[in-house]
Amino acid sequence: MADLYPYLKELENKKILGINPPVFDFAYFDLWAKPLGLLYILQWLRDRGNQVKLIDCIYEARDRAKTFGRYAPRRRKMEKPAPYRDIPRNYWHFGLNEEEFISRLEGLEKPDVILLTATMTYWYGGVFWCIEHLRRVFPGVPILLGGIYARLCPDHALLSGADHVQTGPFPIEAPYPAMDLYKDPEYGISITSWGCPMRCDYCASNILCPTFSQRGVDEVVGEMEFQLLSGSMTDIAFYDDALLVNRDEHFYPICEQIEKRFSHIRFHTPNGLHVRRLDEKCSEYIYRTGIRTIRLSLESVDPEVQKESSSKVSRHQYQRGVENLLKAGYHHEDLETYVLAGLPGQSVEGIKETIAFVKDLGARVRIAQFSPIPGTSLYNQALKKVPALAEEPLLHNNTVYSSWVSKEIPPEELQDLKDFSRQ
Ligand code: SF4
Repeated sequence: MADLYPYLKELENKKILGINPPVFDFAYFDLWAKPLGLLYILQWLRDRGNQVKLIDCIYEARDRAKTFGRYAPRRRKMEKPAPYRDIPRNYWHFGLNEEEFISRLEGLEKPDVILLTATMTYWYGGVFWCIEHLRRVFPGVPILLGGIYARLCPDHALLSGADHVQTGPFPIEAPYPAMDLYKDPEYGISITSWGCPMRCDYCASNILCPTFSQRGVDEVVGEMEFQLLSGSMTDIAFYDDALLVNRDEHFYPICEQIEKRFSHIRFHTPNGLHVRRLDEKCSEYIYRTGIRTIRLSLESVDPEVQKESSSKVSRHQYQRGVENLLKAGYHHEDLETYVLAGLPGQSVEGIKETIAFVKDLGARVRIAQFSPIPGTSLYNQALKKVPALAEEPLLHNNTVYSSWVSKEIPPEELQDLKDFSRQ
């Protein structure tokens, strides 16, 4: 089944269990990540008279508190899968372990349907692991798999053992995500628009969401209000890819409402902001709204990489954007800037030059290592050099791709770049 919508639409008075699986990876950071699509679908099913429950294997294994409502999940070392065998780094299972997961499942009434989500393509190990346990505890219950992995690697996702895989977009018909399924969540999530009007050669935004659309201001504010009813939230993260498009009609009215109603909440933009739109007025709005974490999309000052990045910001525009944010009240250390590394054919000199440029302006550098995402034009380019990408999503992992898979940047040089960016 490629489209689960007609099947789910028929469900009524059913017990539905949603699952966000554990993550198997070299590293995991909570960038205010919640399974947004799954939460919308659970809310929609609940609105249609079903009972819904959620097991979030990451959230339920919260361990050390981090800044702004985030937690690092518990982890345990695990054996590396074969494609990573020669990589000299530890590999981890982040989230509920086997015993905890099984005990959570056994504590529930048998569901009628299980919905499982998966984010990164190279996190499929956690999905397969969940399905194996679900089959043992709840034999015969249909398991439906969706999420970004299923969308981008549908053939591979069919190997998961799920009964059905959602391979296309799913219409969102709920007014808000079912965040109340979390007990005392520390942060909320907000997506004010779907997709992105730009077309960067390495990004899947317009594959996953081909049309850019913005939600109504009242809808966005109502959704925040609903989430804040929990009383436990101190922070909200924007999930938008293009938050600042059409600022006058969209972003500014949202900011005005936030200032009036939610001034006690801190906001964050973990996805990069389009820096060319950061004029004085926009920077002031961002500051007054209480956006505490700012990430800026620069990617590179190298003209070749800028072309691959939709030429979305020039050196001059970036410099002006930084100046405007500083004038609005931010400090240099607040301004973290994404610099891309490891694109096919990208020169190390160009990466160094970009890091030096950002540092000269006093902003912080965050190196974003390239991940070849199926369906993008740079993935197709990467595929020529590494044909195995087509069969093995573990090879898409940005932590290892540029140094160990494509060998675009030797590991020592990548480490030097990271050290240089932190100095
Ligand atoms: S601007 Fe950002 S979200 Fe939009 S296509 Fe480019 S990388 Fe993707």
